[in-house]
Amino acid sequence: MIRWALQLAAYRYKLVYVPGPRIANADCLSRFPLNCVNMDTPAVGEEILLINLLDSTSTCTSENIRRWTDRDPVLSKVRLSILQGWTSTPISDLAPYYSKRDELTTLKGCVLWGIRVIIPPQGRVLVTDMLHETHPGIVKMKNLARGYMWWPKMDMDLERCVKTCRQCQSVRVLPLNNQPLHPWEFPSKPWSRIHIDYAGPMNGKMYLVLVDAYSKWLEVVPTSGCSAQTTVNHLRRIFATHGLPDIIVSDNGTSFTGSDFQEFVNNNNIRHVTSAPYHPATNGLAENAVKTFKMAMKKSPGGNSEDILYRFLFDYRISPHSTTGIPPCELLMNRKVKSRFDMLRPSISDKVMKKQEVQAKNFQPRSGNSPTFNEGDSVYFRNYSRSGPPNVPGTVLQRTGPVSCRVQSESGTVVRKHFTQLFRQEKPVPSEAYQDIENNGENYYGVCNEAQTNTSIGPMVDTNTPARVPINEPVVSNPIVVEPRRSGRVTKPVVKLDL
Ligand SMILES: [Zn+2]
Repeated sequence: MIRWALQLAAYRYKLVYVPGPRIANADCLSRFPLNCVNMDTPAVGEEILLINLLDSTSTCTSENIRRWTDRDPVLSKVRLSILQGWTSTPISDLAPYYSKRDELTTLKGCVLWGIRVIIPPQGRVLVTDMLHETHPGIVKMKNLARGYMWWPKMDMDLERCVKTCRQCQSVRVLPLNNQPLHPWEFPSKPWSRIHIDYAGPMNGKMYLVLVDAYSKWLEVVPTSGCSAQTTVNHLRRIFATHGLPDIIVSDNGTSFTGSDFQEFVNNNNIRHVTSAPYHPATNGLAENAVKTFKMAMKKSPGGNSEDILYRFLFDYRISPHSTTGIPPCELLMNRKVKSRFDMLRPSISDKVMKKQEVQAKNFQPRSGNSPTFNEGDSVYFRNYSRSGPPNVPGTVLQRTGPVSCRVQSESGTVVRKHFTQLFRQEKPVPSEAYQDIENNGENYYGVCNEAQTNTSIGPMVDTNTPARVPINEPVVSNPIVVEPRRSGRVTKPVVKLDL
């Protein structure tokens, strides 16, 4: 608006309001170029500068610089040296200018270093005030000054101006590293010093975050509240797994300064260290853990928050930590936790177990079920000593496992044997049985009784069904016994076609 006001200031004009609907598109004549175009437009920049200077309380012009240069004993000599030539050795007063003597010039009574005007001492405070008028800060002041002016130790003067300005100091940002870093001592064992803090609320829940300083093991517990009693309950559950720590570091939140919490740490002989108020860096480990946890929850695509939390915790605990280079689970539990990434690596033990499973599946006992032996069974057991027969008779004393037992020999020696090293002693056959065998004319050895003679010895003869007779031979009259069926129907004998 100022630009338009300045531009229109050269004209006499009348403001007319035209409502929007009456503003039509530009026609041809309004855009048609005229022949007389030599119109001097007033320079705008100078007028803007004028407006700026009008508000300023102090000004400094080149005329002021020239006048001050005339009066200043040092700069007047510099200007004279530029015009008449420099002495071979520098005069002490002119030393700062002597090194720049090849770049110094004069213009309208002022001394210039390149394009920068050298400000005489009388004008330095005024120029500094001009630069600092809007309190732009030390960096911007220096950058602005370096484009226009110079004097010996100009940067120092500008810095002093900012450092002594009350307004600038009152809003100054505290430097981050003004104190030497005092890191916590690295604990000598796991779960010795733990850092705790609360994160949230996120998704309507608070999260108790706990980090072990040694292993960097992270625990995050979702909780509905963060009172001292709730905190103690969660800590009790965690300590039931990992044991009591020596030191707990926390901030000054009421969750950790409440009487319940204090009583808990005192009763369990835990030293409680709190950070200085508004100095979260003391509990930096927990603060960083909170940041990491929040970032992970934000990055997750969505879904059940507990699922996301526990997946994050699992990955965090099995991943090597940036500080220790070792996964927290290995430092805390001294073992590698099985994860889905273990499937990628071929394992020798898995291979052996699979082979054993296949072998067990393919193994078939040579004759039926494998024999079992119980207490009191008379057996023969394999004799591995050089003296005596290969198999020695004995009695099973006691079973020592599913396929092993202790056996006592007839001489009283007790040995431990696998079932495959035993076989059962057969009892002597009664004399009648031998008689039957002799009558049947069978040459059979081993156990033999009447039931077996019909079924297992000789040709297979089924006594319940008529025997098959070759068709050519005459049918011998068989004593067919007609048995009534359960339904009452009488079964008729089969009449075969006799050709
Ligand atoms: Zn200031």
